[in-house]
Amino acid sequence: MQPVMLTIRDQIAHVVIDNPPVNALNQSVRAGMADAAAQVAGNDDIVGVVLSCAGRTFVSGADIRELGNPLQPYLPDVLAAIAGSPVPWVAALKGTTLGGGLELAMACHGRIADPAGKMGLPEVTLGILPGSGGTVRLPRLVTMELAIAMITGGKPIGAEQAQEAGLIDAVAQGELVEAAEAMVRSLAPGTPLLDRPLRSAEAVDWQAEEQALSRKSRGAAAPFEALAALRDAVRLPADQALAAERERFLRLSVSDEAKALRHIFFAERNAGGSLRTADATPADLLRVGVIGGGTMGAGIAVALLLAGSQVRLIERDGAAAATAQERVADMLAESAKRGVISDTERQDALYRLGAGDNYAVLADCPLVIEAVFEDMAVKREVFARLDAVMPADAILATNTSYLDVDALAEATADPGRVLGLHFFSPAHVMKLLEVVRGRTTSARAMATAGALARHLKKTAVVSGVCDGFIGNRIMNAYRRDCEFMLEEGALPHQIDAAMEGFGFAMGIYKVGDMSGLDIAWAQRKARAALRPANERYARIADRLCEAGRLGRKTGKGWYDYADGKPQIDPEVTRIIEEERAKAGHVRRDFTSSQIMDRILSIMQAEGQAILDEGIAETADDIDVVMVTGYGFPRHKGGPMFMRAAALASHGKTPEGLASAVLE
Ligand code: NAD
Repeated sequence: MQPVMLTIRDQIAHVVIDNPPVNALNQSVRAGMADAAAQVAGNDDIVGVVLSCAGRTFVSGADIRELGNPLQPYLPDVLAAIAGSPVPWVAALKGTTLGGGLELAMACHGRIADPAGKMGLPEVTLGILPGSGGTVRLPRLVTMELAIAMITGGKPIGAEQAQEAGLIDAVAQGELVEAAEAMVRSLAPGTPLLDRPLRSAEAVDWQAEEQALSRKSRGAAAPFEALAALRDAVRLPADQALAAERERFLRLSVSDEAKALRHIFFAERNAGGSLRTADATPADLLRVGVIGGGTMGAGIAVALLLAGSQVRLIERDGAAAATAQERVADMLAESAKRGVISDTERQDALYRLGAGDNYAVLADCPLVIEAVFEDMAVKREVFARLDAVMPADAILATNTSYLDVDALAEATADPGRVLGLHFFSPAHVMKLLEVVRGRTTSARAMATAGALARHLKKTAVVSGVCDGFIGNRIMNAYRRDCEFMLEEGALPHQIDAAMEGFGFAMGIYKVGDMSGLDIAWAQRKARAALRPANERYARIADRLCEAGRLGRKTGKGWYDYADGKPQIDPEVTRIIEEERAKAGHVRRDFTSSQIMDRILSIMQAEGQAILDEGIAETADDIDVVMVTGYGFPRHKGGPMFMRAAALASHGKTPEGLASAVLE
């Protein structure tokens, strides 16, 4: 099948790209487009061209697998042929027009979009920038302010905003291709876009723009290169700006950052591999039960409601159910306030929620998710009650963070229908879902987890049963080592600064203070008896808790929050020094890179152990967990990717990392 087709009707050439699923601009599409442009130029009967796509969307970008390995014909040359065509081209945009697709549309002489269409240049999210004129053409159509936001931020805009801003000429009222044809017939030959001045004449404070980017980019380089390319568009003639942009694009497309971002892009797409191949019919998700309406239960309920399910929320008693219902209503109101959902959607979601304390109403739910206190006795009791009221084929899930899913399954008559669904807080926002497969979890339970992840638009990763599953287990391993570093001479703010300098949104001590130090403390106390006497153990965190320093909620934790912001507290330094002396360590200095080397090597060693024990299915899944659930900087690709890349650079073959070395 030809990926690009040209037919002529009433002197209009209809060029249709047909490259499922998203009409990516791969080599054969570029060749087809070059051929179409040549046919149009060589046929005097043609008075205009309508460019459209088969399927559900206009071109949604380049073929990512070709990045870093460009093949002829190159996109800039194809676009130059279209832009220089003797007759006008109009692009008919539907679905999401992204990256090279939007550059293609901008090379046309007119653009019309479906009202639901979205347009964007998300290249920076893959560590590159638009390399086919995007940074030169966009500021000739829209203000520099919007061009900077779209190109350095990578977020798409809707058709209505695109029309107001000047990116497209019209929003189609009726049939899109017919409207495009009407537009191309009425289009007068104007000044070529590249010969036009920039849309906005006012000077840009480039330094201020750079500072704003520094706050957002967490150390990624591509947004700064994108900004520099836009600056070139201001100070260089168009042809030179195009050449400079291409040079930046080619350089970035082989950068470590771009490789890391491509790795995580594919790792996310392939995450939870076995969920997709689960050979069983999933439970229906129209009605779902949620037990416990605290922080997590309410968030899970909101996620389900927003996906269109009915939710039966069960609490301990009527008063607790009323509080839980209010919590859900507040979360929905907050989402509406932030513009994530409309007010009608909020009301509709609330209408589908029922809260109470009677387990009997769960009898018609094919799936129930438990999110009560993290206490085995409480959870076992809940599961025994569920076992009695739920239909025999219903799936029972627990949101436990640490408890043994197999032990919990034993509280039921049919342990095969039990599994873990570990959501992250806030559950209606965070994309990650760890699906915990117990020893006896059935294929149907796994298929249901896969269907639920798709229903909620979450990225699911499968984990076996162990203490903390994939994410919390790795986090606990490096948190423990961070406390050893405190004993040896580092201070909490130095460790946080090293992590933030590496690209984490927040260091581990600020995160700890935010979520509260008491839960981990309770856990340490519960396990104290099991700890081997000769195991190294830092008592610093226990001492903070004993002093009532439980984090932000008590005004003090690893930091002092007297004026709202985390301040270094001499009392914490004193406790650390005392514990250091007791442990017999001589204080030594740590550089940021020494701190990060240690954190990374612990993450990687624990990740490898998780793989060796068969807890994670792939190393890529571990990267997905760390990047989507634990703030690991996306542009570094994840700890296992970094390890494989380091091994590869020493001539060793990384094992178990499918997409480590792309190209
Ligand atoms: P929470 O204390 O905010 O909420 C627990 C809720 O369960 C309370 O509203 C309580 O009234 C209710 N409850 C207790 N016993 C019940 C029973 N027998 N029947 C019905 N309801 C009952 O706790 P949370 O932070 O929402 O955590 C819930 C679970 O999720 C825990 O297992 C926790 O480990 C896990 N988890 C928490 C987080 C997090 O960040 N908070 C993240 C992932 C997983």
